Amino acid sequence: MTVIATRAPEPDRLQDRDVAAAIAAAEQMLVSLGVDIQVEHLRRTAERMVLSYGEVLTPAPFEATDFVNDAKHQGFVIVQDVAFAAICAHHLLPFVGSATVGYLPGARLLGLSKLARLVERATRGLQVQENVTQQIADGLQRVVPDHGGIGVIVEAEHLCMTLRGAKARGASTVTSTWLGGLERDATLRSEFLNLAGRRWRP
Ligand SMILES: [Zn+2]
Repeated sequence: MTVIATRAPEPDRLQDRDVAAAIAAAEQMLVSLGVDIQVEHLRRTAERMVLSYGEVLTPAPFEATDFVNDAKHQGFVIVQDVAFAAICAHHLLPFVGSATVGYLPGARLLGLSKLARLVERATRGLQVQENVTQQIADGLQRVVPDHGGIGVIVEAEHLCMTLRGAKARGASTVTSTWLGGLERDATLRSEFLNLAGRRWRP
């Protein structure tokens, strides 16, 4: 087992946060929207908002561990339905869904839980689903560079679309990214889709 990459939280950026100013601004926003912040349930809402966003904006630590592929496994390794919740960069409302992540291994195998960790890392911060999908794939490519192909499918419901605006309740958005062999070869993509759960069967 070797440690091939480490990403700790970024302390410099955390120190830049002015929590008191953020709480004052959040209070001001609520008051400006006509909200009575003296009501008991709302007295500490601005503070809770700031602490919640602070938590969501803190990068998830990630340490990729890989192992020798001693059985020379040539088939797909796919982790399905990794649940996540993220905050949309455009509206600061949640989008909630799951990711299916897989690859064809070369000489090294990535620890299985690390596929889920890649999803966790990509869904921290203010995000858009298309970037989440690409960042999971790019992150996987960095830690298993000799892969034979990478596939990522993300499905999510965006509250900015269901709570407001179009009010398209229940609508889900699906995004996919293919790298390497899966980008080039439609047969490999079909095999991935066949394996990756009944929802994705062509
Ligand atoms: Zn949005």
